[in-house]
Amino acid sequence: MADVVLNHIYKVYPNGVQAVTDFCINIKDKEFIVFVGPSGCGKSTTLRMIAGLEDITAGDLYIGNKLVNDIQPKERDIAMVFQNYALYPHMTVYENIAFSLKNRHMPKDQINKLVIEAAKILDIEDYLQRKPKEMSGGQRQRVALGRAIVRNPKVFLLDEPLSNLDAKLRASMRTEITKLHKKLATTFIYVTHDQVEAMTMGTRIVVMKKGFVQQIDTPTNLYDHPINKFVAGFIGTPQMNFFDSTLIHLQDKVEITFEDKQKMVLPFSDFVKCDSEYIDGKTNVTLGIRPDNVKIAEKKGQDTIDVIITSMEKLGNETLIYCDLGNVVTTDENVTKSSIIIKTTPDYEGKIGDIIAVKFNGALLQIFDKETEVSLMPYFPTYSRVTLEIGEKEMALFDQKIAIPSAFKTLKKGKYTVKIPNDSISDGKDFGLECYMCEKMEENKYLITLKANNEYVFATSPVAITKGDIVHFDVELEDIEFNKDVSIYPVKHEVEAEGHFVKSKEKSENGKHTVNFYAEIASAQCRVSANFISRFVNIEGRRSLSANYRLKFVPKLLETSENAMAHKVLDILDYGRKQYLKAEIGKSVCYIDITSKYDKKKKDYDFSFDDTQPIAVYTLDTNVKII
Ligand code: ADP
Repeated sequence: MADVVLNHIYKVYPNGVQAVTDFCINIKDKEFIVFVGPSGCGKSTTLRMIAGLEDITAGDLYIGNKLVNDIQPKERDIAMVFQNYALYPHMTVYENIAFSLKNRHMPKDQINKLVIEAAKILDIEDYLQRKPKEMSGGQRQRVALGRAIVRNPKVFLLDEPLSNLDAKLRASMRTEITKLHKKLATTFIYVTHDQVEAMTMGTRIVVMKKGFVQQIDTPTNLYDHPINKFVAGFIGTPQMNFFDSTLIHLQDKVEITFEDKQKMVLPFSDFVKCDSEYIDGKTNVTLGIRPDNVKIAEKKGQDTIDVIITSMEKLGNETLIYCDLGNVVTTDENVTKSSIIIKTTPDYEGKIGDIIAVKFNGALLQIFDKETEVSLMPYFPTYSRVTLEIGEKEMALFDQKIAIPSAFKTLKKGKYTVKIPNDSISDGKDFGLECYMCEKMEENKYLITLKANNEYVFATSPVAITKGDIVHFDVELEDIEFNKDVSIYPVKHEVEAEGHFVKSKEKSENGKHTVNFYAEIASAQCRVSANFISRFVNIEGRRSLSANYRLKFVPKLLETSENAMAHKVLDILDYGRKQYLKAEIGKSVCYIDITSKYDKKKKDYDFSFDDTQPIAVYTLDTNVKII
């Protein structure tokens, strides 16, 4: 039993293929995690890195709180089950299961006890004297599972274990493995390319594409709130319907215009989480709706569009209707029309050629950016887009006035559309808005939607808040992001600059010579631990002390200029509650929080590494985290 933590894991094969990029997950003890994605997306590579069968290029892997990057597979306390069961053909089932225990010189009676126990769990007690060739595919896979069970591992790793079985057996083995997980109460990590398998088995699912994690979520959230168009299309059969469209906000409604100019009107409450910039009547967006969320309407209305049935599939328990948008059959081959699939009841009596009115379940509508394909209406929005109005002496956010901080003094009078990250809204007293909605996201994490006049603001809270209550809060003004045409940028909280590592031979107190290592940026040095440098050298080899890296560090303001980082002052930004020094270190622009030592008359501040905090190292060009 163990947690498995992947911390910024990368895999670059010797041939240059970057198979896995920045994989981060905290797999909790007893979880059933499934990695899913199309072939070649890096699922097996990740699993093999966890197993220790593949070196980790960069990042940290922990099993049960222990860093295992350099630990041998057999010492990781894991068991792996593969697609091809890899049973020894000349041995009986009993011998196959007992094999690894015998190798460990376990006493015979103990082996016997474990094998019988495993065989009981897997329901193969009657086959223990058979050879693998006398068994079916499903039974053989059970033997492979038995071999893993007897080792009593902390973590089970399963790589497409069912893909050699036929469809029927696969379905029953799925249930078997889910039951096995419950019985053993151990962490399971399961790889598959089959989204149905993932959805039915995983407590959480990791969807991957081309080496990148797309979304890590529960099956329900993946289905109802996909993070982008790829996840939306990959999960669910038949696939989600997608349409090109534009949206416009009309009082308390939103009007959708489809490619064929048909319009559908839905309540604005369905679009609260959608970035308002996209509801402007001209920006093209991709609309997504699952076949089960399209309903056949009894009559035409503002909330319906017409579609024409082009084919039907009666599946017994349900009927799939394939339609084209619009109410005329197009004969011109050059005109492409959006198609739409509708899932309906088996008794549906429509026929090909019928024109029907359909409506959408607006609460489960998805909207994606046409270019980036990112969801514009995420389940958990991370920012709010609101209006900031600069007046004569004050400025207004959510129509509530506060003083204009001097960092915004270059802004002309007028209205600006700005983005405010959720994390930048905290308890306070500058603003007060009514709670419109409160949703539990995870343990001790609630998404709070606050209602301003015509705008909605998102914040996260560790406690639930009652609808209608007034919430008082402050906004970290330094995090506000303006549109591109305004040259005021949000403060970057991570300080990063180009640097390198140096070795120094020093005399210690007892007169002996010792070798110490330092990170060095702009003439300032910070000693790094022997453990840090040995892991770093392990990954980077000879270049470690000659190459330059991008270092991320926590800065510390200094009393004197000793060991200060050489920098050029670009500005001192005063946001009222907080102040930052904007400085250039080498070629990088960095922001240093000087609030604790802020003095209006002071034009510069000395700072260096906070040597009690860790330093993160990235490659200069490819931005891969090394350590
Ligand atoms: P999946 O399990 O999702 O099908 P893999 O993890 O097997 O994907 O592969 C991810 C990528 O890494 C693919 O592009 C694959 O071709 C490449 N790859 C896998 N193994 C090796 C290897 N030993 N050497 C070089 N490239 C590899």
